[in-house]
Amino acid sequence: MTQRGVRRVVLIGGGIAGPVLGMFLQRIGVEATIFEARAAPLEQEGAFLGVAPNGMNVLAELGVARAVQARGAVCDGIRFENARGRGIGVIDQRDAARRFGAGLVMIRRGALHAALAEEAARRGVAIRYGMRLEGVDCSDPREVVARFEGGDEARGDVLIGCDGVRSRTRAAALPGAPAPGYTGLVDFGGFARCPGAPLQPGWSVMVFGRRAFFGAFAAPEGEVWWFHNSGEPAPEGAAAPGPLRERILALHEGDPGWIADVVRATPEVLGPWLLHDILTMPRWHAGRVCLIGDAAHAATPHAGQGASLAMEDGMLLARCLRDEPEPERAFAAFERLRRPRVEAIVRQARRNGSRKAVSGPVAGWLRDRALPLFLRIGAAAQERAHAYRIDWEERIA
Ligand SMILES: Cc1cc2nc3c(=O)[nH]c(=O)nc-3n(C[C@H](O)[C@H](O)[C@H](O)COP(=O)(O)OP(=O)(O)OC[C@H]3O[C@@H](n4cnc5c(N)ncnc54)[C@H](O)[C@@H]3O)c2cc1C
Repeated sequence: MTQRGVRRVVLIGGGIAGPVLGMFLQRIGVEATIFEARAAPLEQEGAFLGVAPNGMNVLAELGVARAVQARGAVCDGIRFENARGRGIGVIDQRDAARRFGAGLVMIRRGALHAALAEEAARRGVAIRYGMRLEGVDCSDPREVVARFEGGDEARGDVLIGCDGVRSRTRAAALPGAPAPGYTGLVDFGGFARCPGAPLQPGWSVMVFGRRAFFGAFAAPEGEVWWFHNSGEPAPEGAAAPGPLRERILALHEGDPGWIADVVRATPEVLGPWLLHDILTMPRWHAGRVCLIGDAAHAATPHAGQGASLAMEDGMLLARCLRDEPEPERAFAAFERLRRPRVEAIVRQARRNGSRKAVSGPVAGWLRDRALPLFLRIGAAAQERAHAYRIDWEERIA
Protein backbone atom coordinates (compact mmCIF):
# COMPACT_ATOMS: atom_id res chain seq x y z
CA MET A 1 0.00 0.00 0.00
CA THR A 2 1.32 3.44 -0.85
CA GLN A 3 0.73 6.77 0.81
CA ARG A 4 -2.26 7.19 -1.47
CA GLY A 5 -4.16 4.67 0.62
CA VAL A 6 -5.87 1.43 -0.32
CA ARG A 7 -5.17 0.25 -3.88
CA ARG A 8 -6.14 -3.46 -4.02
CA VAL A 9 -9.23 -4.85 -2.35
CA VAL A 10 -10.25 -8.48 -1.91
CA LEU A 11 -14.06 -8.74 -1.75
CA ILE A 12 -15.51 -11.99 -0.41
CA GLY A 13 -19.03 -12.65 -1.73
CA GLY A 14 -20.70 -11.66 -4.99
CA GLY A 15 -24.28 -11.35 -3.74
CA ILE A 16 -25.54 -7.79 -3.33
CA ALA A 17 -23.04 -5.86 -1.18
CA GLY A 18 -20.02 -7.24 -3.07
CA PRO A 19 -20.79 -6.05 -6.63
CA VAL A 20 -22.14 -2.69 -5.39
CA LEU A 21 -19.00 -2.01 -3.36
CA GLY A 22 -16.84 -3.26 -6.25
CA MET A 23 -18.43 -0.76 -8.64
CA PHE A 24 -18.03 2.17 -6.22
CA LEU A 25 -14.38 1.20 -5.62
CA GLN A 26 -13.80 1.06 -9.35
CA ARG A 27 -15.19 4.60 -9.55
CA ILE A 28 -12.49 5.85 -7.13
CA GLY A 29 -9.72 4.02 -8.97
CA VAL A 30 -9.28 1.14 -6.54
CA GLU A 31 -8.77 -2.35 -7.97
CA ALA A 32 -11.36 -4.74 -6.52
CA THR A 33 -11.69 -8.46 -7.17
CA ILE A 34 -14.79 -10.35 -6.04
CA PHE A 35 -14.36 -13.96 -4.91
CA GLU A 36 -17.68 -15.82 -4.92
CA ALA A 37 -18.25 -19.34 -3.61
CA ARG A 38 -20.98 -20.21 -6.14
CA ALA A 39 -19.70 -21.97 -9.23
CA ALA A 40 -21.40 -19.52 -11.62
CA PRO A 41 -23.82 -16.61 -11.65
CA LEU A 42 -27.28 -18.12 -11.22
CA GLU A 43 -30.32 -16.55 -12.85
CA GLN A 44 -32.71 -18.87 -10.99
CA GLU A 45 -32.02 -18.68 -7.30
CA GLY A 46 -34.21 -18.26 -4.24
CA ALA A 47 -37.48 -16.39 -4.40
CA PHE A 48 -37.84 -12.63 -4.72
CA LEU A 49 -37.20 -9.48 -2.75
CA GLY A 50 -38.05 -5.80 -2.71
CA VAL A 51 -35.38 -3.17 -3.31
CA ALA A 52 -36.61 -0.17 -1.34
CA PRO A 53 -36.37 3.44 -2.59
CA ASN A 54 -33.23 4.00 -0.48
CA GLY A 55 -31.56 1.01 -2.17
CA MET A 56 -32.74 2.09 -5.63
CA ASN A 57 -31.19 5.52 -4.98
CA VAL A 58 -27.81 3.87 -4.38
CA LEU A 59 -28.21 1.97 -7.66
CA ALA A 60 -29.20 5.22 -9.40
CA GLU A 61 -26.00 6.87 -8.15
CA LEU A 62 -24.10 3.97 -9.74
CA GLY A 63 -26.14 4.18 -12.94
CA VAL A 64 -27.55 0.64 -12.61
CA ALA A 65 -31.07 1.39 -11.36
CA ARG A 66 -32.58 1.05 -14.84
CA ALA A 67 -30.88 -2.28 -15.49
CA VAL A 68 -32.29 -3.61 -12.21
CA GLN A 69 -35.77 -2.15 -12.66
CA ALA A 70 -35.95 -3.60 -16.17
CA ARG A 71 -35.67 -7.10 -14.66
CA GLY A 72 -38.23 -6.44 -11.93
CA ALA A 73 -41.44 -4.49 -11.42
CA VAL A 74 -42.40 -1.39 -9.44
CA CYS A 75 -44.69 -2.07 -6.49
CA ASP A 76 -47.47 0.54 -6.24
CA GLY A 77 -48.29 -0.25 -2.65
CA ILE A 78 -49.15 -2.79 0.02
CA ARG A 79 -52.59 -3.62 1.42
CA PHE A 80 -52.74 -5.32 4.81
CA GLU A 81 -55.61 -7.64 5.72
CA ASN A 82 -56.61 -9.68 8.72
CA ALA A 83 -57.50 -13.37 8.66
CA ARG A 84 -61.09 -12.57 7.65
CA GLY A 85 -59.86 -10.65 4.59
CA ARG A 86 -60.77 -7.28 6.09
CA GLY A 87 -58.51 -4.36 5.15
CA ILE A 88 -56.56 -3.02 8.13
CA GLY A 89 -54.13 -0.65 6.46
CA VAL A 90 -52.57 0.52 3.20
CA ILE A 91 -49.10 1.80 2.36
CA ASP A 92 -49.49 3.65 -0.91
CA GLN A 93 -46.20 3.78 -2.82
CA ARG A 94 -47.46 5.40 -6.02
CA ASP A 95 -45.81 8.73 -5.26
CA ALA A 96 -42.59 7.17 -3.88
CA ALA A 97 -40.56 8.49 -6.82
CA ARG A 98 -41.60 12.05 -5.99
CA ARG A 99 -41.16 11.68 -2.23
CA PHE A 100 -38.04 9.51 -2.05
CA GLY A 101 -36.49 9.82 -5.52
CA ALA A 102 -37.26 6.20 -6.45
CA GLY A 103 -39.94 3.53 -6.14
CA LEU A 104 -39.97 0.12 -4.48
CA VAL A 105 -38.87 -2.51 -7.02
CA MET A 106 -39.79 -6.19 -6.67
CA ILE A 107 -37.31 -8.52 -8.32
CA ARG A 108 -36.40 -12.20 -8.33
CA ARG A 109 -33.27 -12.76 -6.27
CA GLY A 110 -31.42 -14.49 -9.11
CA ALA A 111 -32.24 -11.64 -11.49
CA LEU A 112 -30.94 -9.03 -9.04
CA HIS A 113 -27.70 -10.96 -8.44
CA ALA A 114 -27.23 -11.41 -12.19
CA ALA A 115 -27.94 -7.74 -13.01
CA LEU A 116 -25.40 -6.53 -10.44
CA ALA A 117 -22.75 -9.10 -11.33
CA GLU A 118 -23.07 -8.45 -15.08
CA GLU A 119 -22.85 -4.69 -14.61
CA ALA A 120 -19.85 -5.01 -12.29
CA ALA A 121 -18.06 -7.29 -14.77
CA ARG A 122 -18.89 -4.94 -17.67
CA ARG A 123 -17.17 -2.12 -15.76
CA GLY A 124 -14.06 -4.18 -15.21
CA VAL A 125 -14.62 -5.46 -11.67
CA ALA A 126 -13.23 -9.00 -11.79
CA ILE A 127 -15.52 -11.71 -10.40
CA ARG A 128 -14.04 -15.14 -9.76
CA TYR A 129 -16.59 -17.90 -9.20
CA GLY A 130 -16.01 -21.19 -7.39
CA MET A 131 -13.79 -19.43 -4.81
CA ARG A 132 -14.97 -20.36 -1.30
CA LEU A 133 -13.10 -18.50 1.44
CA GLU A 134 -11.68 -20.75 4.09
CA GLY A 135 -9.34 -18.56 6.12
CA VAL A 136 -7.86 -15.08 6.45
CA ASP A 137 -4.20 -14.44 7.27
CA CYS A 138 -3.43 -11.05 8.81
CA SER A 139 0.09 -11.90 10.06
CA ASP A 140 1.83 -9.54 7.61
CA PRO A 141 1.11 -5.95 8.74
CA ARG A 142 1.40 -4.71 5.10
CA GLU A 143 -1.31 -6.87 3.52
CA VAL A 144 -4.04 -9.43 4.10
CA VAL A 145 -4.20 -12.89 2.51
CA ALA A 146 -7.41 -14.76 1.72
CA ARG A 147 -7.16 -18.55 1.57
CA PHE A 148 -9.69 -20.50 -0.44
CA GLU A 149 -10.83 -24.10 -0.54
CA GLY A 150 -8.54 -25.99 -2.88
CA GLY A 151 -5.48 -23.98 -1.86
CA ASP A 152 -5.79 -20.76 -3.91
CA GLU A 153 -4.81 -17.47 -2.28
CA ALA A 154 -5.50 -13.78 -2.94
CA ARG A 155 -3.70 -10.78 -1.49
CA GLY A 156 -4.93 -7.26 -0.93
CA ASP A 157 -4.37 -4.10 1.06
CA VAL A 158 -7.71 -4.86 2.72
CA LEU A 159 -10.31 -7.62 2.68
CA ILE A 160 -14.04 -6.90 2.88
CA GLY A 161 -16.43 -9.65 3.97
CA CYS A 162 -19.60 -9.37 1.88
CA ASP A 163 -20.36 -13.04 2.42
CA GLY A 164 -23.77 -12.86 4.02
CA VAL A 165 -25.34 -13.93 7.27
CA ARG A 166 -23.17 -17.04 7.64
CA SER A 167 -20.01 -15.08 6.88
CA ARG A 168 -16.82 -17.11 6.87
CA THR A 169 -14.88 -13.82 6.95
CA ARG A 170 -16.55 -12.98 10.27
CA ALA A 171 -15.63 -16.34 11.77
CA ALA A 172 -12.04 -16.08 10.51
CA ALA A 173 -11.22 -12.45 11.28
CA LEU A 174 -13.46 -11.64 14.24
CA PRO A 175 -13.48 -14.83 16.30
CA GLY A 176 -15.86 -14.53 19.22
CA ALA A 177 -18.34 -12.42 17.24
CA PRO A 178 -21.88 -13.49 18.20
CA ALA A 179 -23.48 -16.06 15.91
CA PRO A 180 -26.63 -14.98 14.06
CA GLY A 181 -29.75 -15.63 16.16
CA TYR A 182 -32.61 -17.79 14.93
CA THR A 183 -35.82 -15.72 15.15
CA GLY A 184 -38.25 -18.65 15.39
CA LEU A 185 -39.76 -17.87 11.97
CA VAL A 186 -39.39 -19.67 8.64
CA ASP A 187 -40.04 -18.40 5.15
CA PHE A 188 -41.37 -20.25 2.10
CA GLY A 189 -42.18 -18.80 -1.30
CA GLY A 190 -43.06 -19.43 -4.89
CA PHE A 191 -44.28 -18.17 -8.24
CA ALA A 192 -47.73 -19.09 -9.54
CA ARG A 193 -50.29 -18.33 -12.22
CA CYS A 194 -53.61 -17.95 -10.46
CA PRO A 195 -55.95 -15.72 -12.51
CA GLY A 196 -58.79 -16.07 -9.98
CA ALA A 197 -56.84 -14.52 -7.08
CA PRO A 198 -58.29 -11.11 -6.16
CA LEU A 199 -55.02 -9.24 -6.62
CA GLN A 200 -54.40 -5.94 -8.33
CA PRO A 201 -51.41 -5.85 -10.73
CA GLY A 202 -48.50 -3.94 -9.23
CA TRP A 203 -49.82 -4.23 -5.66
CA SER A 204 -48.87 -6.48 -2.75
CA VAL A 205 -51.34 -7.93 -0.28
CA MET A 206 -50.16 -9.07 3.16
CA VAL A 207 -52.44 -11.19 5.29
CA PHE A 208 -52.07 -11.69 9.04
CA GLY A 209 -53.63 -15.15 9.03
CA ARG A 210 -54.96 -17.19 11.93
CA ARG A 211 -51.67 -19.03 12.39
CA ALA A 212 -49.28 -17.72 9.75
CA PHE A 213 -48.54 -14.77 7.48
CA PHE A 214 -48.95 -14.64 3.71
CA GLY A 215 -47.68 -12.01 1.28
CA ALA A 216 -48.39 -11.86 -2.46
CA PHE A 217 -47.27 -9.47 -5.17
CA ALA A 218 -49.21 -9.39 -8.43
CA ALA A 219 -46.46 -8.97 -11.04
CA PRO A 220 -47.52 -7.12 -14.19
CA GLU A 221 -47.27 -10.17 -16.50
CA GLY A 222 -49.89 -12.03 -14.49
CA GLU A 223 -47.67 -14.06 -12.17
CA VAL A 224 -48.22 -14.07 -8.42
CA TRP A 225 -44.99 -13.90 -6.37
CA TRP A 226 -45.71 -15.05 -2.85
CA PHE A 227 -44.13 -15.81 0.49
CA HIS A 228 -45.34 -17.36 3.70
CA ASN A 229 -43.98 -16.95 7.25
CA SER A 230 -44.80 -19.24 10.12
CA GLY A 231 -43.48 -19.92 13.59
CA GLU A 232 -41.11 -22.83 14.14
CA PRO A 233 -39.60 -22.87 17.63
CA ALA A 234 -36.69 -25.17 16.73
CA PRO A 235 -34.79 -24.87 13.45
CA GLU A 236 -34.82 -28.66 13.02
CA GLY A 237 -38.64 -28.53 12.87
CA ALA A 238 -38.53 -26.43 9.71
CA ALA A 239 -36.50 -29.03 7.91
CA ALA A 240 -38.74 -31.90 9.06
CA PRO A 241 -39.64 -34.25 6.23
CA GLY A 242 -43.09 -34.04 4.66
CA PRO A 243 -44.72 -32.20 1.80
CA LEU A 244 -44.20 -28.44 2.14
CA ARG A 245 -47.35 -27.55 0.25
CA GLU A 246 -49.61 -29.46 2.65
CA ARG A 247 -47.91 -27.87 5.66
CA ILE A 248 -48.51 -24.39 4.30
CA LEU A 249 -52.10 -25.15 3.31
CA ALA A 250 -52.85 -26.49 6.80
CA LEU A 251 -51.46 -23.32 8.40
CA HIS A 252 -53.78 -21.16 6.25
CA GLU A 253 -56.95 -23.14 6.90
CA GLY A 254 -59.72 -20.64 7.61
CA ASP A 255 -57.77 -17.73 6.04
CA PRO A 256 -59.03 -16.09 2.78
CA GLY A 257 -59.49 -18.90 0.24
CA TRP A 258 -57.37 -17.34 -2.53
CA ILE A 259 -54.23 -18.06 -0.47
CA ALA A 260 -54.78 -21.81 -0.81
CA ASP A 261 -55.55 -21.34 -4.54
CA VAL A 262 -52.21 -19.58 -5.07
CA VAL A 263 -50.27 -22.20 -3.09
CA ARG A 264 -51.97 -25.05 -5.02
CA ALA A 265 -51.23 -23.34 -8.36
CA THR A 266 -47.50 -23.12 -7.57
CA PRO A 267 -45.41 -25.60 -9.55
CA GLU A 268 -42.60 -25.69 -6.96
CA VAL A 269 -42.76 -24.45 -3.36
CA LEU A 270 -39.39 -22.89 -2.45
CA GLY A 271 -37.79 -22.94 1.00
CA PRO A 272 -37.71 -23.29 3.90
CA TRP A 273 -35.47 -20.36 4.76
CA LEU A 274 -34.80 -20.20 8.48
CA LEU A 275 -34.82 -16.52 9.40
CA HIS A 276 -31.79 -15.36 11.37
CA ASP A 277 -30.62 -11.89 12.31
CA ILE A 278 -27.74 -10.11 14.03
CA LEU A 279 -29.11 -7.47 16.37
CA THR A 280 -25.69 -6.11 17.25
CA MET A 281 -22.00 -6.99 17.03
CA PRO A 282 -19.31 -5.39 19.18
CA ARG A 283 -17.10 -4.60 16.14
CA TRP A 284 -17.45 -4.87 12.39
CA HIS A 285 -13.73 -4.66 11.62
CA ALA A 286 -10.35 -5.90 12.79
CA GLY A 287 -7.06 -4.76 11.31
CA ARG A 288 -7.30 -4.85 7.51
CA VAL A 289 -10.62 -6.71 7.47
CA CYS A 290 -14.12 -5.22 7.54
CA LEU A 291 -17.61 -6.72 7.26
CA ILE A 292 -20.54 -5.19 5.41
CA GLY A 293 -24.12 -6.20 4.56
CA ASP A 294 -25.62 -9.25 6.23
CA ALA A 295 -22.18 -10.34 7.43
CA ALA A 296 -22.21 -7.39 9.84
CA HIS A 297 -25.90 -6.75 10.53
CA ALA A 298 -28.28 -9.31 9.03
CA ALA A 299 -31.92 -8.23 9.20
CA THR A 300 -34.94 -10.47 8.79
CA PRO A 301 -37.00 -9.75 5.66
CA HIS A 302 -39.89 -8.23 7.66
CA ALA A 303 -38.73 -4.64 7.12
CA GLY A 304 -37.83 -5.22 3.45
CA GLN A 305 -34.45 -3.52 3.98
CA GLY A 306 -31.62 -6.11 4.09
CA ALA A 307 -30.68 -5.78 0.42
CA SER A 308 -31.01 -2.01 0.44
CA LEU A 309 -28.84 -1.70 3.55
CA ALA A 310 -26.21 -3.87 1.88
CA MET A 311 -26.22 -1.45 -1.08
CA GLU A 312 -25.95 1.59 1.20
CA ASP A 313 -23.02 -0.08 2.99
CA GLY A 314 -21.19 -0.56 -0.31
CA MET A 315 -21.57 3.12 -1.22
CA LEU A 316 -20.61 4.46 2.19
CA LEU A 317 -17.61 2.20 2.69
CA ALA A 318 -16.23 3.24 -0.71
CA ARG A 319 -16.66 6.88 0.33
CA CYS A 320 -14.79 6.21 3.59
CA LEU A 321 -11.92 4.52 1.73
CA ARG A 322 -11.84 7.44 -0.73
CA ASP A 323 -11.55 10.06 2.01
CA GLU A 324 -9.49 8.27 4.65
CA PRO A 325 -6.24 6.67 3.40
CA GLU A 326 -5.62 4.71 6.61
CA PRO A 327 -7.84 1.58 6.32
CA GLU A 328 -8.51 1.07 10.02
CA ARG A 329 -9.64 4.67 10.36
CA ALA A 330 -11.80 4.33 7.26
CA PHE A 331 -13.42 1.20 8.73
CA ALA A 332 -13.97 2.92 12.08
CA ALA A 333 -15.63 5.88 10.33
CA PHE A 334 -17.81 3.50 8.33
CA GLU A 335 -18.96 1.64 11.42
CA ARG A 336 -19.61 4.86 13.34
CA LEU A 337 -21.72 6.30 10.52
CA ARG A 338 -23.67 3.10 9.80
CA ARG A 339 -24.33 1.43 13.13
CA PRO A 340 -27.24 3.56 14.47
CA ARG A 341 -29.26 3.29 11.26
CA VAL A 342 -28.77 -0.38 10.54
CA GLU A 343 -29.26 -1.58 14.12
CA ALA A 344 -32.52 0.40 14.41
CA ILE A 345 -33.77 -1.28 11.22
CA VAL A 346 -32.68 -4.77 12.33
CA ARG A 347 -34.68 -4.24 15.56
CA GLN A 348 -37.69 -2.92 13.64
CA ALA A 349 -37.61 -5.96 11.36
CA ARG A 350 -37.53 -8.25 14.43
CA ARG A 351 -40.58 -6.39 15.87
CA ASN A 352 -42.46 -6.61 12.57
CA GLY A 353 -41.84 -10.35 12.45
CA SER A 354 -43.07 -10.94 15.98
CA ARG A 355 -46.70 -10.32 14.91
CA LYS A 356 -46.65 -12.73 12.01
CA ALA A 357 -47.20 -16.07 13.72
CA VAL A 358 -49.62 -16.54 16.62
CA SER A 359 -49.88 -19.49 18.95
CA GLY A 360 -53.66 -19.71 19.44
CA PRO A 361 -57.06 -17.97 19.14
CA VAL A 362 -56.61 -15.76 22.23
CA ALA A 363 -53.17 -14.57 21.14
CA GLY A 364 -54.62 -14.03 17.65
CA TRP A 365 -57.54 -11.97 19.00
CA LEU A 366 -55.19 -9.77 21.05
CA ARG A 367 -52.79 -9.40 18.11
CA ASP A 368 -55.59 -8.35 15.77
CA ARG A 369 -56.77 -5.62 18.17
CA ALA A 370 -53.24 -4.13 18.18
CA LEU A 371 -52.57 -4.49 14.44
CA PRO A 372 -53.82 -1.09 13.18
CA LEU A 373 -51.61 0.75 15.69
CA PHE A 374 -48.69 -1.55 14.96
CA LEU A 375 -49.09 -0.95 11.21
CA ARG A 376 -49.07 2.82 11.71
CA ILE A 377 -45.83 2.58 13.70
CA GLY A 378 -44.33 0.24 11.09
CA ALA A 379 -45.35 2.56 8.25
CA ALA A 380 -43.67 5.54 9.96
CA ALA A 381 -40.46 3.49 10.41
CA GLN A 382 -40.59 2.46 6.76
CA GLU A 383 -41.00 6.07 5.70
CA ARG A 384 -37.83 7.00 7.61
CA ALA A 385 -35.92 4.08 6.09
CA HIS A 386 -36.99 5.02 2.56
CA ALA A 387 -36.17 8.71 2.95
CA TYR A 388 -32.50 8.11 3.84
CA ARG A 389 -29.98 9.33 1.24
CA ILE A 390 -26.19 9.11 1.03
CA ASP A 391 -24.51 12.01 -0.71
CA TRP A 392 -21.56 10.65 -2.71
CA GLU A 393 -19.91 14.09 -2.90
CA GLU A 394 -19.95 14.69 0.85
CA ARG A 395 -16.59 14.08 2.51
CA ILE A 396 -16.06 11.94 5.59
CA ALA A 397 -15.34 14.25 8.52
C1 LIG B 1 -36.38 -15.30 2.47
C2 LIG B 1 -35.72 -13.96 2.46
C3 LIG B 1 -36.41 -12.88 1.91
C4 LIG B 1 -35.81 -11.60 1.90
N1 LIG B 1 -36.49 -10.54 1.38
C5 LIG B 1 -35.92 -9.32 1.37
C6 LIG B 1 -36.60 -8.18 0.81
O1 LIG B 1 -37.73 -8.26 0.34
N2 LIG B 1 -35.94 -7.00 0.79
C7 LIG B 1 -34.69 -6.87 1.28
O2 LIG B 1 -34.13 -5.76 1.22
N3 LIG B 1 -34.01 -7.89 1.81
C8 LIG B 1 -34.61 -9.12 1.88
N4 LIG B 1 -33.93 -10.18 2.41
C9 LIG B 1 -32.58 -9.94 2.96
C10 LIG B 1 -31.55 -9.85 1.85
O3 LIG B 1 -31.63 -10.98 1.01
C11 LIG B 1 -30.15 -9.75 2.45
O4 LIG B 1 -30.14 -8.74 3.43
C12 LIG B 1 -29.14 -9.41 1.35
O5 LIG B 1 -29.08 -10.46 0.41
C13 LIG B 1 -27.76 -9.18 1.96
O6 LIG B 1 -26.83 -8.98 0.94
P1 LIG B 1 -25.30 -9.42 1.13
O7 LIG B 1 -24.61 -9.08 -0.12
O8 LIG B 1 -24.81 -8.88 2.43
O9 LIG B 1 -25.37 -11.00 1.33
P2 LIG B 1 -25.87 -12.11 0.29
O10 LIG B 1 -26.85 -11.57 -0.67
O11 LIG B 1 -26.28 -13.27 1.15
O12 LIG B 1 -24.57 -12.50 -0.52
C14 LIG B 1 -23.51 -13.20 0.09
C15 LIG B 1 -22.69 -13.87 -1.01
O13 LIG B 1 -21.51 -14.42 -0.43
C16 LIG B 1 -21.29 -15.70 -0.98
N5 LIG B 1 -20.50 -16.46 0.00
C17 LIG B 1 -20.93 -16.99 1.17
N6 LIG B 1 -19.92 -17.61 1.81
C18 LIG B 1 -18.82 -17.47 1.02
C19 LIG B 1 -17.45 -17.89 1.15
N7 LIG B 1 -17.01 -18.60 2.20
N8 LIG B 1 -16.58 -17.54 0.16
C20 LIG B 1 -17.00 -16.82 -0.92
N9 LIG B 1 -18.29 -16.41 -1.08
C21 LIG B 1 -19.18 -16.72 -0.12
C22 LIG B 1 -22.69 -16.25 -1.20
O14 LIG B 1 -22.70 -17.31 -2.16
C23 LIG B 1 -23.44 -15.02 -1.68
O15 LIG B 1 -23.38 -14.87 -3.08
C24 LIG B 1 -34.51 -11.44 2.44
C25 LIG B 1 -33.82 -12.53 2.98
C26 LIG B 1 -34.42 -13.78 3.00
C27 LIG B 1 -33.68 -14.95 3.61
